[in-house]
Amino acid sequence: MFENKKRVYRFGGKIAEGDGTMRELLGGKGANLAEMSKLGMPVPAGFTITTECCAEYYELGGGYTEQLKKDVASALEATEKQMGKKFGDPEDPLLVSCRSGARSSMPGMMDTILNIGLCSATLPGMIKKTGNPRFVYDAYRRLIMMYSDVVMEKAEGIEPEDGQGIRQQLDRMMEELKEARGYKSDTEITAEELKDLCAKFKVKVKEVLGVEFPDTAEAQLWGSIGGVFKSWNGKRAIAYRRIEKIPDDWGTAVNVQSMVFGNMGETSATGVAFSRNPATGDNKFYGEWLINAQGEDVVAGIRTPNPLNEATKTEQNKHLQSLETAMPEVYKELDAIRKRLEEHFHDMQDIEFTIQEGHLWMLQCRIGKRTGIAALQMAMDMLSEGMIDEKEAVMRVSPAQLDEILHPILDPASEKKAEVIAKGLPASPGGAVGTIVFTSEAAMEAAAAGKKVILIREETSPEDIEGMRASAGILTTRGGMTSHAALVARGWGKCCIVGCESMKINLAGKSVSFGGTTYKEGDWFSLNGAKGYVYATKLDTMDASENPLFIRFMEIVDKFRRLGIRTNADTPEDAARALAFGAEGIGLFRIEHMFYGKNSETPLSKLRKMILSDTNEERKAALAELEPFMKASVKSTLKIMNGKPVVFRLLDPPLHEFVPKGVEKEKELATELGISVADVEKRGENLHEVNPMMGHRGVRLHVTYPLIAETQYRAIFTAQAELQQEGLHPIPEIMIPVTVSERELRFQKAICEKIREQVEQSTGEALVYKFGTMIEIPRAALTADRMARTAEFFSFGTNDLTQMTFGFSRDDVGTFMGDYLGNKILDGDPFQTIDVKAVGKLVELGIRGGRSKRPDLKCGVCGEHGGDPDSVHFFNKIGVDYVSCSPFRVPIARLSAAQAAIKQSA
Ligand code: ADP
Ligand code: MG
Ligand code: MG
Repeated sequence: MFENKKRVYRFGGKIAEGDGTMRELLGGKGANLAEMSKLGMPVPAGFTITTECCAEYYELGGGYTEQLKKDVASALEATEKQMGKKFGDPEDPLLVSCRSGARSSMPGMMDTILNIGLCSATLPGMIKKTGNPRFVYDAYRRLIMMYSDVVMEKAEGIEPEDGQGIRQQLDRMMEELKEARGYKSDTEITAEELKDLCAKFKVKVKEVLGVEFPDTAEAQLWGSIGGVFKSWNGKRAIAYRRIEKIPDDWGTAVNVQSMVFGNMGETSATGVAFSRNPATGDNKFYGEWLINAQGEDVVAGIRTPNPLNEATKTEQNKHLQSLETAMPEVYKELDAIRKRLEEHFHDMQDIEFTIQEGHLWMLQCRIGKRTGIAALQMAMDMLSEGMIDEKEAVMRVSPAQLDEILHPILDPASEKKAEVIAKGLPASPGGAVGTIVFTSEAAMEAAAAGKKVILIREETSPEDIEGMRASAGILTTRGGMTSHAALVARGWGKCCIVGCESMKINLAGKSVSFGGTTYKEGDWFSLNGAKGYVYATKLDTMDASENPLFIRFMEIVDKFRRLGIRTNADTPEDAARALAFGAEGIGLFRIEHMFYGKNSETPLSKLRKMILSDTNEERKAALAELEPFMKASVKSTLKIMNGKPVVFRLLDPPLHEFVPKGVEKEKELATELGISVADVEKRGENLHEVNPMMGHRGVRLHVTYPLIAETQYRAIFTAQAELQQEGLHPIPEIMIPVTVSERELRFQKAICEKIREQVEQSTGEALVYKFGTMIEIPRAALTADRMARTAEFFSFGTNDLTQMTFGFSRDDVGTFMGDYLGNKILDGDPFQTIDVKAVGKLVELGIRGGRSKRPDLKCGVCGEHGGDPDSVHFFNKIGVDYVSCSPFRVPIARLSAAQAAIKQSA
């Protein structure tokens, strides 16, 4: 099972055994460390243990093959040679870091351990060699903190009570020391104090975890490697994978790398940078750094970090020195690397670097996460810079990012009138409005109850992931643009403000104060993530789709797609919105919509009258009253869609949905119908069905009551004739729902034709239209060849088709879908993404069957799946002509369709 394969790949010193294409084997971090080495960049030497070894580790129940042990030993030896130091050497020890790295980056999810190799045997030599005891003990205390947390606690599956994690306990000890001495910054702690602190840390570790802190370099190294492997199955990593849909079996690689030190004094530093601004897309080198600091200090938000250069200073950091002025030579070198990396990868890079005594070292590069608006900006910029072509530009913005661009920002007008109570760093743009909460749990609870919340934290940590996900916006006191909160929020396109230092949180009191004013949990806040402004009030929001950049991008998108995009709209307002978003027609206009919502009172009362009619005469009279309303509704939408097709679907819901509830309404109706309230109730009860979803609805209703169908046909044709007389070009398409047999269609077609002839005669207009059917019941899909004899078009109602194929009630599926997903009985919710295996197969069969009789049969898809990117890919593949989705998802469907076409042609 453990065949002889290459388990360890070396990198550093301008050479590497792997390269950037080997992400699956080396993880993203390892692959890019190799690639940077190959590009001749200064990368500290080290080696990558492959992701395959992670699987091996689990297969062995948490162990290593002999071969791996040998391979690591020899790679370590090679690294030692390159660095001129020996791991565990008492005179001049080599220290290493142990870094995780999955195929796709999981920021903050996996754990890294720095300064491995410091122990009683090596500490004195290290001090002697560097002549800097303060630095050595600072490195040692970090090692103890990280190692005890990652390897001794988390990897062991220990779940301490809130606030009692070993890391937090050690953090508190250090805080207490600082407080006692009156220190503001970690850097003020002296060597003696750090030495003493390390001793106390080790006692604490033993006390809390019951195990000695390992005191040999070897034990630390293998403990760390195992710790990284185990962190793949840590709670946080699993939670993140669920959200990002990353498979569990990928595993993580482990990178063991020589340490370089940003904490050796005033000429040392560490930093994080983006080759372009990840929040706005601005083509400026953007980043943060800290002098005399190590590793995660910048990200952890311990101090407000310095700006990288003069051009990108902000309100919050303008008083701090930039790297550009502090170390101009190093900055120049870094800036050249930035350009080189962008040219090499053709994309924005997220970079980690450390400066050790004036020397620049590259520790990581990867394609940077970005907000939707930044993705759009960068795609368009890189296109005009000639870095990428149009196809690539289209692929650079994900449907989710486009969705985010279409998401609300704070309405500038309402914002102008409000008072900014605080300013922070604009970490992730967009607007968020919600009530404030202070814990991740509270955020999840509120979200589950359908509330919008703003999560306020000192800083966030990976433990907050799910709460952050559940929040509309995130606001933190500490941290910079590259802090955990900022990274995660940007990845999700969630509005986020960090480093809002004037904010004082009182966790116990569930309140927060700014200056003298205090706000409590449940108070409304609004955030402007693009500016970093905080408002203690509920502001209006608006969408950002009028952005000219967005419009230009969408023009390029449309060059590549084959699928048509229509919309589901039943009002002129929705139709207008969809047109603005680029809809090419209406794929679903539901006649019944006129009986819901605004202005529905009168038509609804007429409909009720019709429903409760006992005789054909009564029914006819009621329908005659209803018809003008229906015609007006149809006409206004046909008018706005002038020249574009509109699919009208006949009344679909079961009639009892419209039966009045409540005495008042019943009385009203009784008077209108001239019958008693008791009779109204009785007639209503007669309509009751045990299983209305499969009951007397759709075409069945129109078979029983042809008069109802006639009214609808007449309303449509009259509207069409009138618009033609106004010189317009209406294109109605009439669609019959819930069909199972061609005879239903023929039955309806005859009625429809009769009415058309009547209207043609009375108006003198020639009325051209198309007659078609929904395909939403398996029988219809399976007899599609027959259906197509009468139907001139099909529209696959994939919501109902999914319901009918699975036998899962759409309205009750919530009670068990979670169990099906959790137990991996289903890979995904079939109501969200089309189930290719069965429902998709039915669609495919339906199209093939239909076209066998009618080669030019137009096939559309209406239903939620029309706006779902994965489903759109499938529909593109099987020859669907168009998808129809809600107005707001039209641009997303356009983009998905273009990306599907590009991928398929590749
Ligand atoms: P993450 O995936 O969370 O970013 P990393 O493995 O990149 O974790 O490491 C965390 C931090 O430690 C980063 O700031 C990184 O630059 C720093 N770091 C990792 N290895 C070394 C090293 N060998 N020398 C100096 N700093 C390091
Ligand atoms: Mg980390
Ligand atoms: Mg990193």
